[in-house]
Amino acid sequence: MTIWPFSPMENNLHIASGEGVYLTTRDGQKIIDAAGGAIVVNIGHGRTEVAEAVARTTGQSTYIVPPFLTDERIALVERLQRDWLPPTLTRINMTCGGSEGVESAMTMAIKYHAAQGRRNKHKIVGRSISYHGTTLATAAVGGHVARKKDLAHALPTYPSTLTPYPLRCPSDDPRAYYVDAFRQTLSDEGPDTVAAFLSEPIVGSSGGAIVPPDGYWEDIQTICREHDILLIMDEVMTGFGRTGLDFGYQHWGIEPDILVSGKGLAGGYSPLAGIFATEAVATAIESGGMSIMFHTYGAHSAGCAAANVVLEILRRENLVERAAEKGKILSELLEKKFSSHPHIAETRGRGLLQAIEIVRDRDTLEPFDIDANLAYNVMFEALSRGVFVYAGGTGVVRDIVCLGPPFIVEDDELEVIVDTLAESVDSVIAKLN
Ligand code: PLP
Repeated sequence: MTIWPFSPMENNLHIASGEGVYLTTRDGQKIIDAAGGAIVVNIGHGRTEVAEAVARTTGQSTYIVPPFLTDERIALVERLQRDWLPPTLTRINMTCGGSEGVESAMTMAIKYHAAQGRRNKHKIVGRSISYHGTTLATAAVGGHVARKKDLAHALPTYPSTLTPYPLRCPSDDPRAYYVDAFRQTLSDEGPDTVAAFLSEPIVGSSGGAIVPPDGYWEDIQTICREHDILLIMDEVMTGFGRTGLDFGYQHWGIEPDILVSGKGLAGGYSPLAGIFATEAVATAIESGGMSIMFHTYGAHSAGCAAANVVLEILRRENLVERAAEKGKILSELLEKKFSSHPHIAETRGRGLLQAIEIVRDRDTLEPFDIDANLAYNVMFEALSRGVFVYAGGTGVVRDIVCLGPPFIVEDDELEVIVDTLAESVDSVIAKLN
């Protein structure tokens, strides 16, 4: 067996190529990529236009240290400012992946306060159901119990507040319940010690596309502003159209101080993440004589070249609008298939980030035993039937399956995805009984 990945897997797939929404294995099996990889691929696989831009750039300017200007960097920064970012987010940093990006945002928030003489204001508040990455700091601030299990003893502690999770909310006013929880966390920690609140506007695979109650984000922003706490939105998964708007936070009336994106920015064609901050954050850091250190491969020419074309295609083909449209169809198909399924607690999501939550008992919401590894078994079952879905979840919300196909997906493919998911859920549960 080839020694890959780090802990090699039996019967691992060998993918030979990707085209549109399909992957093809070395043996010629076609698989619908209903998760766009790790919810990354937005414009579809195999666009030669992007590959050509990357090849051109790599031949021309192999590696240039991140602070220097290159044509690709200028083009990407100008495109982001012209077509994507709100006018409030004027400053841009770029890393390779989401974990580095989130950690860079955390660093910015801490420096923003320290540069103004508030070294005591250094805590980053995270949330109970969340995922922000694999570095020690991003793992620690995240609320992914399963992924931090074997590291917990070595992780620094970060304050955490409840993630809005309407399905299991003990109150009939979820907005007030979760906003009060945030207020309580601040009061426990002392708001003068808190630098930033870090969260995903719509929770990704740790919770399965959980959408907060309306009004939650507006209330949170008001509280943050009251205490000069920066709002960091982790849009590594939701950014660049995934939820049917350019960014997930735009579903509500808020303005982040720092926005982190990843996955969809370069659509999977090259590793790239963006950290976008307000002028106020940047000038405070600069006035305090501080700076933001670059990562060696930050803003890599190949990444910038890929993102330039991916973002251009998203606009040219109106793919964000299409994600909203196809997301509605996907949501309706899921609702139709699962609304009275005895083991599906809920279907939820926005745009082309949708999920199902699988439970033992739909009425009590009791989950299956953790050892049943249900969501992962559903993922493998669906794969054997030719559809790749994304298993996730953690803690009590442990069995969720996310769908995040490329935005070019067609209606008949969505039907196949949902039918296969339902057959896979039933087959895995039948084997348990
Ligand atoms: N933040 C969110 C919301 C994510 O979904 C992910 C990855 O799935 C990350 C951060 C970490 O990104 P990466 O795996 O690129 O380091």
